[in-house]
Amino acid sequence: MSGGDMAKPLLGHRSMEGDSSITPAASRTIGVLGSGDFARSLVMRLLCSGFKVVVGSRNPKRKAGLFPSAAEVTFQSEAVKKTDVVFVAVFREHYSTLCDLADVLAGKILVDVSNNTKINHHKQSNAEYLASLFPASTVVKGFNVVSAWTLQSGARDGNKQVLICSNNQEAKRTVAEIAQAMGFTPVDMGCMSSACEIENIPLRLLPAWKIPILLSLGLFLCFFTYNLVRQVIHPYIREQKNKFYKIPVEVVNTTLPCVAYIMLSLVYLPWVLAACSQLYYGTKYRRFPEWLDQWLQHRKQIGLLSFFCAALHTLYSLCLPMRRSHRYQLIETAVKQAVEKKMNIWVEEEVWRMEIYISVGIIALGLLSLLAITSLPSIANSLNWREFSFIQSTLGFIALLVSTLHTLTYGWSRAFDENQYKFYLPPTYTLTLLVPCTVILAKVVFCLPCIWHRLQRIRRGWEKGRCVKFVLPSATGEYSSGESSSNV
Ligand code: NAP
Repeated sequence: MSGGDMAKPLLGHRSMEGDSSITPAASRTIGVLGSGDFARSLVMRLLCSGFKVVVGSRNPKRKAGLFPSAAEVTFQSEAVKKTDVVFVAVFREHYSTLCDLADVLAGKILVDVSNNTKINHHKQSNAEYLASLFPASTVVKGFNVVSAWTLQSGARDGNKQVLICSNNQEAKRTVAEIAQAMGFTPVDMGCMSSACEIENIPLRLLPAWKIPILLSLGLFLCFFTYNLVRQVIHPYIREQKNKFYKIPVEVVNTTLPCVAYIMLSLVYLPWVLAACSQLYYGTKYRRFPEWLDQWLQHRKQIGLLSFFCAALHTLYSLCLPMRRSHRYQLIETAVKQAVEKKMNIWVEEEVWRMEIYISVGIIALGLLSLLAITSLPSIANSLNWREFSFIQSTLGFIALLVSTLHTLTYGWSRAFDENQYKFYLPPTYTLTLLVPCTVILAKVVFCLPCIWHRLQRIRRGWEKGRCVKFVLPSATGEYSSGESSSNV
């Protein structure tokens, strides 16, 4: 599950969609303070959703032309007098300039839509700051996670959730009603203390992807350096051959599958570690260490990055024959053969190796594509749990097996050829096999009936060293209960 998914409220934050107590929006008049990008998109959306809108600007004459004629554009104080709900589409820095409006805003709902430029920029959230400036008004935080662009496209595209928080239930309900009428899904994030969290959400850049991206970059750098030394530096130092032209395509193309393959195995390694921990402690109720927990949560991103590298590897491989260097090498080989009068260059073993290697690689990519597609929320939501776990666990593991076959057919007998040990460094493929083969081996061991049954019992709640009540079927088919030490 992605961090983005994790950030989505599961419990506690109640989706207010479908709340029968929320009445459909009447032709309410909504006030908007400000005439910038956000205000303009908001006004358009409000008008399209059937609201009357009055815009409060410091310079209404100049700004009126920016809004549709259906919206009334007037001075700030005039605008707020005509409505009970006012969207404050103004930056935090300018809140204090609105203080003159405190009296007219008293008793009204102020919707704080603002964002910051840095995470936890101010000690006090913008909404709390606004509330402190207007103690006689009720502040609701909301709409800040929706961009001006999403407002324009009318929730058909982009984020549909509008996170709302306030200390006043009634005000929160009113804003939720407006959001719903605009086609968004209001999500109740609780009281005003959540405002800081809501304000930080739009500033987070792919939080769930940070570790997987760093991991794949780290692996890429390590394997790139390793391949560079073997494919470019070694021939340069030992044979004075200039192979630097290989860096942009060949070295990258031998690095990408290493990253893809290891990343795929890293999707399944935490399962093995979790199973080891559960078998060792004899319980599923013991918390995994923090790093394992994090790892388990990032499996989707790691898998998608593995697919990304595999797809790039496929593209690079398809482009290999297009290179000038490849054409020169082909001609060179042909000329050499003509000079040496060699007629038959067909090597049966090599032909078979390549056929199997390519076919298995295509199957592996196909399976990885399937895993990637089914991890998309819209597709995943259409699958039941069994279907999802069959694709992600069983087919995913088969993808790992097929990728291993792809790697082995690529390497073939190179591991046993001493010429392949450049600077005593083993061929790259032998290194990449280490983690995936460990995972496959561990999976095979866990599938042994004695271990598998114990693991399944633990996952159903059995605990080592605890007496549990169980129910036994009697000879007549009736059930009788008894006590048993689960150690037995
Ligand atoms: P903007 O284009 O710069 O507009 C800000 C507006 O504030 C101005 O047009 C101005 O309207 C008004 N304003 C009132 N008092 C002001 C003062 N003393 N100095 C300067 N301007 C003053 O900004 P924006 O992009 O619309 O953003 C407005 C708010 O929405 C911000 O808090 C932002 O964080 C939030 N937001 C924006 C987006 C987005 O996609 N743009 C998304 C989410 C949240 P008048 O000149 O007519 O008074």
